[in-house]
Parts: sequence; C-alpha cells; structure tokens
Amino acid sequence: MNNILSELQNIETLAISGHIKPDGDCVGALLSMYNYIVNNYKNITVDLFLEPIPKIFCNLKNSDKIISDFTMEKEYDLFISLDCGDEDRLGGAVKYFKSAKKTINIDHHISNTNFANINHVILESSSTCEVLYDIYEEDKIDLDIATALYIGIVHDTGVFKHTNTTQKTMNIAGNLISLGVNFSKIIDETFYQKTYIQNQILGRCLLESMLVLNGKCIVSTIKRKDLEFYGANLTDLSGITDQLRVTSGIEVAVLISETNFQEYKVSMRSNNKIDVNKVAKYFGGGGHIKAAGCNMKGTTYDVINNLTKHIEAQLIDTDEYTGE
Ligand code: 5GP
Ligand code: MN
Repeated sequence: MNNILSELQNIETLAISGHIKPDGDCVGALLSMYNYIVNNYKNITVDLFLEPIPKIFCNLKNSDKIISDFTMEKEYDLFISLDCGDEDRLGGAVKYFKSAKKTINIDHHISNTNFANINHVILESSSTCEVLYDIYEEDKIDLDIATALYIGIVHDTGVFKHTNTTQKTMNIAGNLISLGVNFSKIIDETFYQKTYIQNQILGRCLLESMLVLNGKCIVSTIKRKDLEFYGANLTDLSGITDQLRVTSGIEVAVLISETNFQEYKVSMRSNNKIDVNKVAKYFGGGGHIKAAGCNMKGTTYDVINNLTKHIEAQLIDTDEYTGE
C-alpha cells in the first residue's frame, strides 16, 4: 500500500487532479491529499487542478489553492489522479497527466480503465477517501485532512446508507470523528441543506417525472430553458436522482439533464437488481453498479427510448418483470 507514498520520496513536482464536475468524494480526496502533502513533504511543489467546486465545499482548508484554469504549461515528475475512472474524465487536466514522468490512479469505480502507470483501484471501498485513509499514515491525519476524508465518505455513501457502506467504512468514519470532525454540521451543510433554487428544481423534477417499464423505472428530464428559468446550473441537480430512487416500487431512477442543444447528462441510480454501470458503459459512461452516468445525444425521446431498452433487457432477466 505504502508504495504509493514511497513514490513521493524522490520527486520535486506533483500535480493532483480528479474528475470533471467534482463531487464530495472527489473534492474531499483532493483536498485531503493536498493538505497531507503540504504538511509532510515540504520539498514537493504540489499543484491541485480541478474544475470549480460546489460552494458547499469551499470551507475545506486550501480550497482556494485549486487551479481551474488549465492553460499553464508545466511538466510534472508525478501526476496523481483521484476518484476518476478514465483519462477523459480528467477534463482539461489530462494534458498534465499525459506529459508527467509518472502517473498514479487511485480510485474505486468499477468502470476504471487502469489508465496510469500505477493503478490502485479498490472496488470494495465506499469512496476514494476510504482508499486514501488506508494509504495515509494515521498519525499524520490532522483535523483538516480528517474533515476532507469524512466529507468524501459521507457523500459517496449517501450518509452511510448506500450498500457500499461496510463495517470498515464505519470504523474509519469513527476514527475520523475521534479526531474532532464536526460531523453534524458537515452532514447538514454539505449534504442535506439545499438552496431555495435547488429545492425548486428538485420539486420540478419530481413533478415532471414519469413512471415507465411497468412502474419499475422513474424518469425525469430537465431542459436548459428550465434551468435558466430558475437561475440554476447543473451542479444544482445533485441529489435529485437519489430522491427519485426512493420512489416505492421502482428499480431504476434516471435523471436526464440537457447540457447543450440535444446533448444530455444522464444520471442513474439502481435499487437492487439492475447494473446501471452496464447501461452507462454501453453509452460511453460508467460509475458503479448502483450509481452511474453517461452523456447522450438526440431528442429526449431518443434518449429515453435508448436507455429504457437497456434497462428493460436487464429487468426481463429478473424474475418479476414480464414487459407489456
Ligand atoms: P452522478 O449520477 O452522481 O453524476 O454519478 C454517479 C456515479 O457515476 C459517480 O461515481 C460518477 O463518477 C459516475 N459517472 C457519472 N457520469 C459519468 C460519465 O459520464 N462517465 C463515467 N465514466 N462515470 C460517470
Ligand atoms: Mn467516489
């Protein structure tokens, strides 16, 4: 495990980055590592590249050090990718990955393509932050690092409720709490609290949702003009697919949000039987068995038809579904 840390021994420059549209696990992983390296490897110059992060994570220490402009020309001794399943999802930071002397990929996505020189992909881990907890030396985890790791675990487990939560996850979270993490505040402020706009968009998505595939699948679509009407952007949609998923009787929840004319971001969640990573992967995306996403093009009707065909094929393989 600590051959990851040993890779930090003889380097001078390091770039770290994560996936586009960073979520809690991605931001937590990156800021925990940034702080860990700044504290313990004073001879390393570390740059943290990431698209702008949601405001709720801006209280994390050194979030102001994030570089979201990828125009700088620099070649690094080492590049570490965190919480990112493939090269494409590094977005603008991929150029630093490509020119780095050595690359490391630390992740937990089943769709990970093992794209680096060293690949440390632990599928059984709830989150990349859980993977990192095992890599870091325990006595070097201070409160800022612990807080960042805790946020990542909370977000990827849906506050310890998704099936990726294990006894180990809880033990790690317990250890982080013992370091003084203000967990109630963090859970409320970064996970449950929504802005007025986010609540309005959530309401709209629930109102406009429809049940398909004999009530086994719930689908909601949101157009750019609706986002504009509410003054919202795509990051305001986080959590909506999870809310759709808890509709009783459904196996799969799908949120389709328009990003450009006839271009969509698709977010999927599964309750039990359906592998949404398989569906997402077919359309060029990925993720986890129970939470995955992809980008698609066409009319919303095309997108819904194409997605539901693949979901239905899996439902037919289960016992209860007979189709119409
Ligand atoms: P979300 O629905 O919250 O955007 O994403 C759910 C999971 O799927 C996350 O782990 C996320 O990293 C992954 N994911 C979402 N969209 C894509 C995509 O387009 N490509 C890949 N490879 N993974 C995705
Ligand atoms: Mn993650």
